[in-house]
Parts: sequence; C-alpha cells; structure tokens
Amino acid sequence: MSISTDHSQADPNAHNGEQNDMPNLGQRPGRKVFIETYGCQMNMADTELMGGILGTSGYTAAPNHDEADVILINTCAVRERAEERVFGRLSHLLKYKHARPEVILGVTGCMAERLRETLTDRAPYVDLVIGPDAYRRLPQLLEECQEVDADPVVDVKLDREETYRGLVPKREPGIKGWVTVQRGCDKFCTFCIVPFVRGRERGVAPDEILRQCQSLADAGYKEVTLLGQTVNSYRHPETETDFADLLEKVVEVDGLERIRFTSPYPTDFTPKLIATMARHDKICNYLHLPLQSGSDEMLESMKRLYTTGEFLTLVDDIRGAIPDIAMSTDIIVGFPGETEEHYQKTVELLERIRFDFAFLFKYSERDGTYAARKLPDTLDEKTKKARLSALIETQEAISAEIFATKVGQTVRVMVEGESRRSADDLCGKTDDFKTAVFPKPENTILNPGDFADIIVEETTSHTLLGRAL
Ligand code: SF4
Repeated sequence: MSISTDHSQADPNAHNGEQNDMPNLGQRPGRKVFIETYGCQMNMADTELMGGILGTSGYTAAPNHDEADVILINTCAVRERAEERVFGRLSHLLKYKHARPEVILGVTGCMAERLRETLTDRAPYVDLVIGPDAYRRLPQLLEECQEVDADPVVDVKLDREETYRGLVPKREPGIKGWVTVQRGCDKFCTFCIVPFVRGRERGVAPDEILRQCQSLADAGYKEVTLLGQTVNSYRHPETETDFADLLEKVVEVDGLERIRFTSPYPTDFTPKLIATMARHDKICNYLHLPLQSGSDEMLESMKRLYTTGEFLTLVDDIRGAIPDIAMSTDIIVGFPGETEEHYQKTVELLERIRFDFAFLFKYSERDGTYAARKLPDTLDEKTKKARLSALIETQEAISAEIFATKVGQTVRVMVEGESRRSADDLCGKTDDFKTAVFPKPENTILNPGDFADIIVEETTSHTLLGRAL
C-alpha cells in the first residue's frame, strides 16, 4: 500500500500474525493502490485503516500514481478551500484514467460524505465515493466499480455502531503514531460540519485501543497520540471506561514513552482527568484546548457549551495541577455578529491566558452547518482580515515571550530527524510540544526516536535553538 500523507510511518511487519476481521470478498492479489490524504490526523489514521483493510484483501503498494490500479483521495470538508483543492487534484489525476481507463479513482472521507452523489456531477470520472463509516466495505465496493459500464459507486451511510473493531491499520515504520479512540461528534457547534460528515460519537473498545497501542510500541514507536473529535468525552459504556480510565491503561503500555491526545473539549474535562494527567510523566505536558472566542455572546452563538469564565477556571485548575503545562488553542475571528467589542474580548482573553501558540482562523461559512443556514455572514472580508492579522501579531508576541523564557534551560527532546533547513542539524519535539533544533553532536549518533538533552541558547516565536549536552 502506498500511503501519501503529511507524515510517513508504515510498518509492514508491525501487525504480522494479526487478522483483519474481513469477509473473504474482493480479494485482489497483485492490485496496487495509492492513497493521498488531506486534512487532520484523524484522516491520516483512516488512511492507515484503509491501507490495512485493502492489504488484507491482497492489494499491495503502488510506489506512485503511474503504477496504481486504484487511486484514492481521502478528503477533508472542514473548509471550502480544502474541497476546492481536492477538485483541482482530481482533474489533475484524470490523466491517469486517460492513460489507463481501467484505473479506479475514488474519493473517501468527509468531502465524499458531504457532497455524496453531487461530487460526481462536478467530477463525473470519479468511480467511487465513500464516507468515513464505509471503509470496512472498501474491497467489495472496489469490486462493484469493476463492473462494465458501472455507474459511480456511492456509499455514504453513517453508522452509529462502526468503530472498525478488529481491523488492523497499516502503518509505515516510525516513532510517532496515532490511535483513533473515538469517532464522530455529538457537540454540533454551529460553524462545524464534522458531526454531519462523521456521524455521532462512538468510543472504541479499550481492549482494541490497547492492542493498537501495544502494536505501535512493539514496532518501535515511542509516542502515541490518542485521537477523537472531543477526545476527553470518550466513554465506553460496556466497560464503564472514561477517558481518564483509558489514559491510565495506555500509560501501562510497555515501550511507549510519550502519550498525547487531541482534541479535548473544555466542558468534558473532569478533576479526575486533570489528576490523571498530573500523575503520569508519560502523559505529555501539553494541551490543545480550543477556545474559539473570548466573547460569551459569540460562544453562545457558536453553541460552545462554556462561558469565558468557565474556560478561565478550567485553565487555572489545569495550571494549578500541572504548573509547567504548555497550552495552545483555536480561535475563529469574524464569526457572524462579531462586533469590535466582541473581538477585543478575544484579544484580552488571549493576553490573559497566554497560550504557548494558537491556531487562528477567519470565519468562512460552511454549507450544511447551522451557521450557514441561520446566521448570515455579514462581516466584510477586510474587517475579518484586519482582525485576524492583529490577533496573529498579538499571539506571535506572546509566543515569542514564552519561548524566550526557555533560554538557559535544559529541555528533553525526542529526535525526529534532520532539520529541514540544514542537514547538519537535528530537530525534535519537547514534551510540551515545542520544536527544538540543534547541531548534530560530533561524537554521538542520534537517530529518530532517541532522546537528547538540549541546552536552549536562542528562541524564535516557534522554535528553540540550542545544543546537545
Ligand atoms: S466539538 Fe464542535 S468544532 Fe469540534 S468537531 Fe464537534 S462540532 Fe466540530
């Protein structure tokens, strides 16, 4: 299987001996597949899942598009721009179908779920459109595409039960992996398409999660990120396991050195979870906690389930229990109805909380959401852009100040590889998710997955620069 993603980690041997729970249909020994991935880590994890499913049906890796019998584009629907990019990519990939008409071109994931049959109105040469809950049926659906004069095959049924239990993702060799612990979302924020394209919240069984974590560790991975749309609302009623219980179990997995999770939802934080995070060194001192706005009015309009006061209390509680924790957040500026006063409250809250970094976005309407139907996007682009730029400037200054406090400190870094800027330097991440760059030590060879103590000598707003001790 060839899996093209932002990250590359496959371990063809990681799951030897394990069986996918797949019916013996759609066996295609020798057929080659190439999967391109867009969007979030959840999509990347789904690509690995599809890789495993197809591998069990006899599909093998295509090193590139030219040699692929099946090309799948695993898509994101969160922003319109992401979908436009995929349409552009599809028209580019049409050349492979022109060269070899038997090539199957498929679109999977959130954009497939959102657009359904209408996707083929704009890209009639697409053979397969399947949503995030149909991957188990992928081999059979590809068989249906083989039929002479077949219409495009569309399977976008959302399934309240599907957690892909028993299936084994195909992972590249690596040091950092992810395990999906929860699928779907029940929150229905008014700006967000996710609950409509990924369905309702479902927790993966703890034994399944632990099996996958152990499998990663056995394959040499050092770090796992547990994934869920609102990961800390995780629950598995049959075993009465909540997210704190799950973390307690993952901490016990032999061989894993670092555990991260993303993204938690503020109101799903419990004192028990905070205490669990504080208790275990393996759980990284970093938290991505999406705020979205510093205005209570905007939060209500977004249907976020907390006030700014409650968010602040939570931040204080977490910092009280884990004083050196680093935090990041997501903010949307220019949400419908956002006045200058609302916006200023966001600026003030960012200055008050002082996140280590932040992902800042300007609102754009998403078809199919409550906001697109009921909350007219009246704010002009110029104002939105100006607010975003000013907020970025504010956050950059805060990040630079926080990073600068690290000068003179020794930080432990997990090496990820050579720095992109220089083959003489290595880069890696600290426990609190800061990127560190340092020259390769002269007398020691450090490989990806090795840990190094770095004395920080300089910083930017995003990077620690130093040398290995
Ligand atoms: S919590 Fe809100 S923003 Fe996050 S996935 Fe669910 S609906 Fe979307």
